[in-house]
Amino acid sequence: MFESLGSIQNPFARSLTAAFTTLSVITLTSAIAIGVTKSKDESAYKAALYSSLIGAGCGAVFGLAYTNRGNQPKTAQALPDEQANQLVENTTWRDWRNFVVVRKVKESEEITSFYLKPEDKGEIPNFQPGQFLTIKLEIPGQTRPVIRTYSLSDYPEPCDYYRLSIKREPMPPGLDVMPGIASNFMHDHVHEGSVIPAKPSSGKFILEVQTSIPAVLISNGVGITPMMSMAKAVTRLNPQRPLWFLHGARDGSFHAFRDEVRAIAEQNPI
Ligand SMILES: Cc1cc2nc3c(=O)[nH]c(=O)nc-3n(C[C@H](O)[C@H](O)[C@H](O)COP(=O)(O)OP(=O)(O)OC[C@H]3O[C@@H](n4cnc5c(N)ncnc54)[C@H](O)[C@@H]3O)c2cc1C
Repeated sequence: MFESLGSIQNPFARSLTAAFTTLSVITLTSAIAIGVTKSKDESAYKAALYSSLIGAGCGAVFGLAYTNRGNQPKTAQALPDEQANQLVENTTWRDWRNFVVVRKVKESEEITSFYLKPEDKGEIPNFQPGQFLTIKLEIPGQTRPVIRTYSLSDYPEPCDYYRLSIKREPMPPGLDVMPGIASNFMHDHVHEGSVIPAKPSSGKFILEVQTSIPAVLISNGVGITPMMSMAKAVTRLNPQRPLWFLHGARDGSFHAFRDEVRAIAEQNPI
């Protein structure tokens, strides 16, 4: 019951619900007591009325004060069965948090991966396969920070790093414009040891891992990044689930994650 009460976010609605529930319980109990004792004493009715009102008042105050417990985020520890498919909310990381690039790996002619760990060495929340990180780059020549989103391209268990895999965006053929600002900066100027601020993972393009229906992942080029996270999550957390992964690449030199996908296929022979 307390859990249901705690799930009501609006404090007034929570207070009203608690007051009404207490009022109903005490009134009902008093009515039963008066009925059983067949009391005709007016003081018994008054006592029932006052205790109902006092109970409602206490309920209202309790409903207001229950905020903290009710709003506590669920953690992986509290939900062991669901942890595979739950976004673990972080109680402290709400806005920008500095991440250090601990590894930089070339995946193909145009895609490079960046492995990120928090500079504060604290824990990082898990994420739902398919979600992305928002990063902020201070790029010389730009009047304001450049903000971009990149899908999380790995699914480590436990989650102790994030991986972003970024395609270098060239200038479009036939146009005399700047090549991609953020992606080229990441490729050319962000190295192991660089620090990048990031916001917590988000995004609704996610795969529900714990179902038995076949998962079909279709991607092209750098569109492979969320699929990698989805394929790995299914293989690790629901290995019996049939998984089909179709990917298009210009040629072998542009084919990122070939070995990783082969390893996934070996673990998922269905
Ligand atoms: C949810 C989400 C997830 C994503 N995940 C990934 C991912 O995993 N990996 C990844 O690589 N990308 C991903 N992206 C794309 C990424 O966010 C960036 O959009 C991408 O890196 C390009 O940013 P940029 O700053 O390099 O290019 P920009 O500077 O934004 O330029 C984009 C393109 O426009 C061209 N251009 C510039 N000026 C003009 C002009 N005047 N006229 C015409 N064209 C012009 C540039 O040359 C370039 O080709 C994702 C995007 C979203 C929304």
